[in-house]
Amino acid sequence: MTMRNMAVAFALGLALAFSLEAPAQARKAAVPSPQAEDLALKAEDPSLQAETPFMRLAIAEALAGIRQGHGGPFGSVVVKDGKVVAKGHNKVLQMHDPTMHGEIDAIRGACRALGTHDLSGCEIYTTGEPCPMCLAACLWANISKIHYGCTIADNTRIGFRDETMDKQLGGRKGLRGYLIPVDRKACLSLFDAYLKLNPRRY
Ligand SMILES: [Zn+2]
Repeated sequence: MTMRNMAVAFALGLALAFSLEAPAQARKAAVPSPQAEDLALKAEDPSLQAETPFMRLAIAEALAGIRQGHGGPFGSVVVKDGKVVAKGHNKVLQMHDPTMHGEIDAIRGACRALGTHDLSGCEIYTTGEPCPMCLAACLWANISKIHYGCTIADNTRIGFRDETMDKQLGGRKGLRGYLIPVDRKACLSLFDAYLKLNPRRY
């Protein structure tokens, strides 16, 4: 190999190494990673102690997701016969998947755990009132009740678009009694902690 060919080969090698490295760096940059100390609130904080034990678990799940930079402050727990079947949290940023909301993550986990697509007899506890997609997913999965903390208007306050989409789709007046508000105060503390991080929205 001549000196010139060696130089070309070296340059090509460098270019290849850079092109292999670049997507990994881009992936890293796409996910904000708030440090644990940035999130002042811990699961044990009195303000997060929901009265409902399953909502307490949903809040802890959401906090773990925020701490890892996975996405918004949305945690969900699927329960059957008084026992937790699966937990999930929002992983939109981590997975590069706009459908990976907390409820979807928990529903998928519950279906895997129970070996079925039919979650009849299951209830879901979720820190934020479900967006139209998750509400439809709960209906498709035959979830019998949805217990939500923050309202869809609270989701708007922390920068998410659920309410706008809901209006575009005609609202949810026909689902009163299916959607049951619970522990909004504790879930609002979670949302406020998230807001303080000035996180990236999607
Ligand atoms: Zn959703």
